Amino acid sequence: MIFQNSLEFAQQLDAEDKLSKYRQEFHFPQVNKKDVIYFTGNSLGLQPKRTQKFVDEVMKDWRELAVEGHFYAEKPWWEYHELLAEGLGKVVGAGAHEISVMNTLTVNLHLLMVSFYRPNKKRYKIICEEKAFPSDQYMLQSQVKFHGFDSSDAIIEVKKREGEHAWRTEDILDKINEVGDELALVLLGGVNYYNGQVLDMEAITRVGKSVGAFVGWDLAHAVGNVKLKLHDWNADFAAWCSYKYMNSGPGNASGIFVNERYLDKKDIPRFEGWWGTKKDTRFLMQPEFDPIETADAWQLSNPPILSIAPYLASLELFDEVGMDTLIDKQRKIVAYLEFILAEIDKEVESSFEIITPMERGCQLSVFLHGEGRSLFDYLMKNGVITDWREPNVIRLAPAPFYCSFEDMYNFGQILKEGILLNQN
Ligand SMILES: *Cc1c(COP(=O)(O)O)cnc(C)c1O
Repeated sequence: MIFQNSLEFAQQLDAEDKLSKYRQEFHFPQVNKKDVIYFTGNSLGLQPKRTQKFVDEVMKDWRELAVEGHFYAEKPWWEYHELLAEGLGKVVGAGAHEISVMNTLTVNLHLLMVSFYRPNKKRYKIICEEKAFPSDQYMLQSQVKFHGFDSSDAIIEVKKREGEHAWRTEDILDKINEVGDELALVLLGGVNYYNGQVLDMEAITRVGKSVGAFVGWDLAHAVGNVKLKLHDWNADFAAWCSYKYMNSGPGNASGIFVNERYLDKKDIPRFEGWWGTKKDTRFLMQPEFDPIETADAWQLSNPPILSIAPYLASLELFDEVGMDTLIDKQRKIVAYLEFILAEIDKEVESSFEIITPMERGCQLSVFLHGEGRSLFDYLMKNGVITDWREPNVIRLAPAPFYCSFEDMYNFGQILKEGILLNQN
């Protein structure tokens, strides 16, 4: 499609967009009495308007039923988390039985490492990406230390090549083969938080498994963003947070995937609690742990219902629309944003560099050569909510649920003014 950098053209794209009506489903912060142009759905998604109703329902049930709400609420609390499994399964490409919702992301990665990082003297190494998200680095280092290994020896980071901004799949696969029978675990971010790159999860999982390692995915930036087929790819496990593209609210619960081959097993190493037991015997309060047949076997506690209610609201939206429709719009709006950036770049003779490779989801990370933080501040003051990372990178994620093509055009105009001001 041939794009144009004009308001009329952008509005025409919105008129043709099947998802444009979903913009009204979200609350937008306001700057200068106008809805902001929101590029940080990769960090904290906007609040869906229908979320309030889901939270109110829990408040009402608690108010009116108190403890009876566990079994007699409209959506009984003792099995509330199960309501999320099917919808989430569709989002990540898994069966409902392979999904659970609990805790938060870093906590869940630790819990999953209990089952899937089982190092011995020979096979103890972990492959991750260079400069992984800090929490993942701390998590991996502490796990390795906990098992008595030295992280500088046990953790192998796959590096980008000199002067390149993205990882090459072949380099990741070569590294897996090289570490070979010393490799205990491959744990990577499916979509990198910094450059927005989508890794070839299928190939990496296949090769990781072929050398006998476990393969797990941190999907914080992937869930609700790119097409995932965790089951078909044969991943062992995955975890993600729900507050980025999934729009479930700050710090909200994390989802996990455990491949069905590990389900319904008593002998798997795992930290356990009462919500992981079979439902029909849970309240017999028996001393022996009898794992439920699903990924809920990893659940420890009764879940925070007020917190997962917004997740259910969000999944209703994903279910209505479907990942394929979201991804169709995402491709188009990201391409339009890239076009707008190139047009503005020409007009102001700046030199933006998009460091996100073509294997991308919603996010474009842009190196603003020569433009300082003052440009970022100008954008924020003028209602463009972006995110700044050192050195000089802004991350722009036009979430297809609620960003419009007109937003992209308007962003271009504000960006141009900001740069011209900066240059003068
Ligand atoms: C956002 C993000 C996290 C956040 O972890 P929490 O435990 O939810 O605070 C972790 N890892 C990655 C890759 C992320 O993008």
